[in-house]
Amino acid sequence: MIPESFIQDLLARVDIVDLVDSYVPLKKAGANYAACCPFHNEKTPSFTVSPTKQFYHCFGCGAHGTAIGFVMEYQGIGFVDAVRELASRSGMTVPESEGFKPEQAGQTRNLVEVMSRAAAHYKEQLKRSPKAIEYCKKRGLTGEIAARYGMGYAPDGWQNLQAVFPEYHADALLTAGLVIENEAGRRYDRFRDRLMIPIINPKGDIIAFGGRVIDQGEPKYLNSPETPLFEKGRELFGLPQARQALRDTDTAIVTEGYMDVIALAQAGVGNAVATLGTATTATHVQKLLRQVDRIVFCFDGDRAGRKAAWRALENSLEALVDNKRLAFVFLPAEHDPDSYIREFGKAEFDRQVTQATPLSDFLLRELANRCDLTSAEGKAQLIYEAKPLLLKLPTPLLRLQLVKRLAEASGFAQEEVERLCELKSYAPPAPPRARRVAPSLTRNLLRIVLQKPALARELPCELLPDTAERPALLRLHSLTAAHEGEISYAALREQLRGLPEEAQIEEAAAELLGLPFDEAEADAEFRDTLEKLRDGEQKRHFEQLQAKAQQFGVAGLSAEEKQRYIQLLTSRPDRS
Ligand SMILES: [Zn+2]
Repeated sequence: MIPESFIQDLLARVDIVDLVDSYVPLKKAGANYAACCPFHNEKTPSFTVSPTKQFYHCFGCGAHGTAIGFVMEYQGIGFVDAVRELASRSGMTVPESEGFKPEQAGQTRNLVEVMSRAAAHYKEQLKRSPKAIEYCKKRGLTGEIAARYGMGYAPDGWQNLQAVFPEYHADALLTAGLVIENEAGRRYDRFRDRLMIPIINPKGDIIAFGGRVIDQGEPKYLNSPETPLFEKGRELFGLPQARQALRDTDTAIVTEGYMDVIALAQAGVGNAVATLGTATTATHVQKLLRQVDRIVFCFDGDRAGRKAAWRALENSLEALVDNKRLAFVFLPAEHDPDSYIREFGKAEFDRQVTQATPLSDFLLRELANRCDLTSAEGKAQLIYEAKPLLLKLPTPLLRLQLVKRLAEASGFAQEEVERLCELKSYAPPAPPRARRVAPSLTRNLLRIVLQKPALARELPCELLPDTAERPALLRLHSLTAAHEGEISYAALREQLRGLPEEAQIEEAAAELLGLPFDEAEADAEFRDTLEKLRDGEQKRHFEQLQAKAQQFGVAGLSAEEKQRYIQLLTSRPDRS
């Protein structure tokens, strides 16, 4: 746990405008700054950064957050890592407080250090190995590409790493997967006589290695095992290096191997990434779809490659969103992306990517191949096979399209396909609720306390009517009540992470972007709104008492109610 006070200090120290500007050049726009959103693809800027409130908001995709949130989202890293990154940028040291597990954090840091020392060693060895250099040249790789991907070489020999790590028996080497221990307890290097490709996470830490055999030998590719740093189903090779190209093309090319990615980059195709010895997972797809609108899978042309493509399709379905597109390139059987681009060149490869088979076509074609559509049984089987896939799809539009085409292919009616697949028939989404023209009093209050969060301490909780904003107001009240002195929106925002009121508060904060801030005005408006609330409350109370008095006579009221009734009656003559 990082202490809350540190987060506040950090947010006060970091200027979000400088921070965002170092990633995405910002332009002044009125009181705020604007840019094209780094989190979705757009032509006109709807990404806005508020220098006074220290948050960003995108009116296009709803991305919203503080400096910490920006680093998390932009780099795809967790809260703690983002805090560390910002702290080191601004020369602050993250304190270690209760609940912090030094052995665990120490272990991660230790492992990162071990991996980076190993990588430096491998890099050095590549320079010294004519054999490895020759191999790279043969594959058409330049020194520039080798440097870009941090390529190295693990020489032949059983314990070369002992030269780098005098404590060859340290646990960290085993945990990091750099050495293997046999049953007799003897250790040896995992990677021997291999071209070494470091796998780097978005933070720039080396979390694993891929090793490509130089001559003949098995296995051709050897990866680090899963370690505390490296989880295959989450990581993509080449993502940090591809970032700019992903933005430029709005397309990610997913290949099966890092040598494909490197060969494509060498040929000028920079937007490729690779899964690491595992099928494409929904997590991979989600990660990529946060950066691009289109993913093109480009696997080997052989049987195994086609099988991998189908598994990628199955695993991607649940991660699909309606305006995102997935497509598949099927290379000639004897080719992989690496050999294909070396033989046919970039233009031809680009053409393959542009003309890739859309997911729906691939899905239907593959299913149709499995069934004999000339027979009734085959047509039924088609629907049977399609059912689990359709059920995975969260996107109503694509699902509807597929249902229509399945109906065509099978000869069933569309409704029959829907019934057989147990799909609820598609209903267009309800139109967004119309905005109330006059904001309610509680909505007004929410806006004001986000302008000046200290006011939230003064909210009269018992007076707040049961409106949509009430839970958010109560939350802000309790958060601010726990603090002394000034508190910024950004600091509050960080404490809202994961709470149910988060989205509503973000939305209300976004409305502040167009408004000038005048502290005295905010105070006055706050009092005024509370006054109206009290009036409304009194009026309701008075009406209740009045109704009771009319029904049962004044004698029907308790002594207390009678007193209150008379008080209200006399204090508000206009209300009788
Ligand atoms: Zn956006």
